[in-house]
Amino acid sequence: MQIIADLQLHSKYSRAVSPQMTIPNIGLWSARKGIGLVATGDWTHPLWIREIQANLEETGNGLLKLKNSSILLSYEKLVEPLFLLATEVSCIYSQGGKLRRVHVLIWVPSISSAEKIIEAMNRRGCKLGSDGRPIIGMTLIQISELVLSIEPKALLIPAHAWTPWFSVYGSLGGFDTIEEAFGPFSKNIYAVETGLSSNPSMNWRIKELDNRAILSFSDAHSGPKIGREATVFQTRNNEQKTENNEITYDDVYGAIAEASLGKNDGNLEIGYTLEFYPEEGKYHYTGHRACGVKYNPQETIQKGIVCPVCHRNLTQGVMQRVEELAGRTEDSLRLSVNNQMISSKTFPNKPPFAMLVPLQEIIAEAIGSPVQSTKTQSLYLSLVEKLGGEFEVLLRTKYSEIAGLSNGKIAEGIMKVRSGDIVIDPGFDGVFGVVKIWKEEGKDPMAEASKEQLSLFQ
Ligand SMILES: [Zn+2]
Ligand SMILES: [Zn+2]
Repeated sequence: MQIIADLQLHSKYSRAVSPQMTIPNIGLWSARKGIGLVATGDWTHPLWIREIQANLEETGNGLLKLKNSSILLSYEKLVEPLFLLATEVSCIYSQGGKLRRVHVLIWVPSISSAEKIIEAMNRRGCKLGSDGRPIIGMTLIQISELVLSIEPKALLIPAHAWTPWFSVYGSLGGFDTIEEAFGPFSKNIYAVETGLSSNPSMNWRIKELDNRAILSFSDAHSGPKIGREATVFQTRNNEQKTENNEITYDDVYGAIAEASLGKNDGNLEIGYTLEFYPEEGKYHYTGHRACGVKYNPQETIQKGIVCPVCHRNLTQGVMQRVEELAGRTEDSLRLSVNNQMISSKTFPNKPPFAMLVPLQEIIAEAIGSPVQSTKTQSLYLSLVEKLGGEFEVLLRTKYSEIAGLSNGKIAEGIMKVRSGDIVIDPGFDGVFGVVKIWKEEGKDPMAEASKEQLSLFQ
């Protein structure tokens, strides 16, 4: 049994989030994706925690489910998701004469623990009503101590660990090590979240992550973006017919804590992660958006980090930052691809990963119509509702079945993504990268360096 989990997203109470991000809509979009376990998001927010309580009920095993799932009943092939109490806080403070800005996820197994943590944060003067992802003046050590003293089974996970501005390894507000960031609590940091601009193999180059799990989630700000990255948990004995509703918070906790210790005796383990192409992320390459300057790591070494247009320092891309902190080369990982799954021959116990392109983007390019268009949306909904969710379509459904329900070009696009036969113009300084599944004749948007990146899949 496998369960696809997306445990990082935001509610309508966070900045720049769609007003449609309500609990019923999060449930509906999770079902459309094929996600069996999804984050509530934002439980520190005083209004959102009330919506959580109004719409969800605790299952008694650390997770929650929809009180009213009738919205999902019309799609018999879709699975009703479970919810996990997950929130994100932005810790902003000075340490060692530097301003630190780090986002961290906090997961808890009960509403009562969430309420106790909220109360303690309020006593510390945190303004939790200001945003679904509140800025707090506490250090990572202080927030870890507060959370773990109230709920020892809580998990603290550095979010999108590599983005330049707000992350644990960020070049502009982060640290060089988890040890430096979390001090005595670094032993409680069992995992990091990769973020859109990095993939697991980039993280495998960091030695202090060898005994930590590498997780991937969407950080979605709207329903369609839920699951653009995800972590797939599986029962250790695949024969086991555990139903969705038998998964517990302890199973998830065990899978992550044990993955970090390199053992797995529990009910669940991390099977693999599903990734956005890191080139598609907003901070893959180094550059300046306003100045139109974009460098790959090779060019950064040759040309330096000063912008030739405005003469200020360029925003360092995640690729470059990984290069700075890496304790081993990519070659030493001996990456290999088997049936879409990328793994390391040097570290065979690390869960593999697959890289995907969102189905809406594939359909839009195949039919030459924008993602938001009625045509793209209705084809998308009909495919996912009839075939059992987006991940099923992206990963497993046969060409003929997809073509039969849509058209040959869409089916071909999905097959091309499965074989990695695509090109990407990498993202930089806040600009998303652009995926092209069909190369345009006589016009190749991609730099030579990124072609090399993708050659792994050809
Ligand atoms: Zn964040
Ligand atoms: Zn510039």
